[in-house]
Amino acid sequence: MHEMSIALSIVEAVEERARQEGAGWISEVELLVGKLAGIEPESLQFCFSAAAAGTLAARARLAIEEPEGVGECGECGTTFPVNFYYAECPACRSLRVKILTGEEFLIQSMTIEEEEE
Ligand SMILES: [Zn+2]
Repeated sequence: MHEMSIALSIVEAVEERARQEGAGWISEVELLVGKLAGIEPESLQFCFSAAAAGTLAARARLAIEEPEGVGECGECGTTFPVNFYYAECPACRSLRVKILTGEEFLIQSMTIEEEEE
């Protein structure tokens, strides 16, 4: 499953970082997952719980922010919401559309706790 390998790499990344910082455990991980990133947030939540079991992130809350897709027309410069990669400018019908936001996928921040419990 696509989301499982993503979840595993997130857990690996935050755990490595937490170890470097000498953290006891990770209480929260914040992700930015654009609506056009091709990642299913519910599925990622589920996979994250499984992937994090037995790691420093085992009790971490996963917060996912989902920026809407926004495109800009390469002909007339209009910006408009985009739901799919195949987008058409609502003003001039051009298909030369540049995606401005919505493709993000990154770990925005994490919260670490010093105390071992
Ligand atoms: Zn246009």
